[in-house]
Amino acid sequence: MEECQISVVVPCFNEEEVINTFHCALMWVLGETRRSFEICYVDDGSRDSTRAQLRALAAADQRVRYLSFSRNFGKEAAMLAGLRMSRGAAVALMDADLQHPPGLLHRMLELRHHGYDQVVARRDRSGEGVLRRAASSAYYRAMGRCMDVDVVDGEGDFRLLSRRAVDAVLALPEANRFSKGIFSWIGFDTVSFSYHNVSRAAGRSKWGGRRLLNYGIDGLISFNSRPLRLVIYVGLALAFAAFAYALWIAAVVVAHGAEVPGFATLLIAIVALGGIQLATLGVIGEYVGRIYGETKRRPLYVVRETDESAHRAGAVPA
Ligand code: UDP
Ligand code: MG
Repeated sequence: MEECQISVVVPCFNEEEVINTFHCALMWVLGETRRSFEICYVDDGSRDSTRAQLRALAAADQRVRYLSFSRNFGKEAAMLAGLRMSRGAAVALMDADLQHPPGLLHRMLELRHHGYDQVVARRDRSGEGVLRRAASSAYYRAMGRCMDVDVVDGEGDFRLLSRRAVDAVLALPEANRFSKGIFSWIGFDTVSFSYHNVSRAAGRSKWGGRRLLNYGIDGLISFNSRPLRLVIYVGLALAFAAFAYALWIAAVVVAHGAEVPGFATLLIAIVALGGIQLATLGVIGEYVGRIYGETKRRPLYVVRETDESAHRAGAVPA
């Protein structure tokens, strides 16, 4: 393939209802740019017809490539696979559900031409539930306090990266990938513009409440050891308070003799300390678990097939 100017990486998980609409919209926009391009679809172990559709799209146009996982490995793994696959001088990351309007590529490319290595489309939160809005804004405020890297509300994975930025992302060896943090960590000149939030064209979001909460914890823990530090401070402060309290009780006993009441105080102290210890253990456990995960050195995904392997196996007519 001759030199490719733009790669678009699209992670897809059970997107059979939108994938065709999305593909048409994207092809149209890419055609308008009048540049050489490729689309790298990554099927994240979909259980519907997504894989078959991607196979057909790739067979019909050699600028369309795809790779399919053996099971669902998560969006982070899918994006990583897509970035590894991409060959373009600039690489855009985009969701398949049309929540990342393909038309914004024009604006991104224009900004890329001004020399920015990362062009981020930041969505506003219009049309989202009050509860979800409040939760994410609280989360980002807490993240800002706790993390070593900047993570901005609404700045997601929808972005255009220069080749050197992509190479920087790919050079990070960690298995626990939190790309919001990684994109911020690699640095380079970054610019962002905001766009109006759109809701999913069809299908369902794969992010339920629990998944979001887990994602939040991942983000917090992936990028520093501040939670550990905090826990140490709290532990020290409590131990100090308990010691002071013990001294005071000793003084009271010496002055007035022992009294039986105080049982409640004792119980509260035990329960409170027990709770804090459990929380502390949880935080430490998170880090240990992560160390365990990293030392296993497992690949982040397993490939079932790619457009090339499908061709070789004769799954699609050449
Ligand atoms: N996705 C994926 N693997 C997953 C979950 C999601 O590749 O395990 C893809 C999905 O197909 C879509 C994008 O990631 O292209 C965003 O997912 P979704 O729309 O469910 O997330 P939301 O927009 O609600 O944050
Ligand atoms: Mg979506």
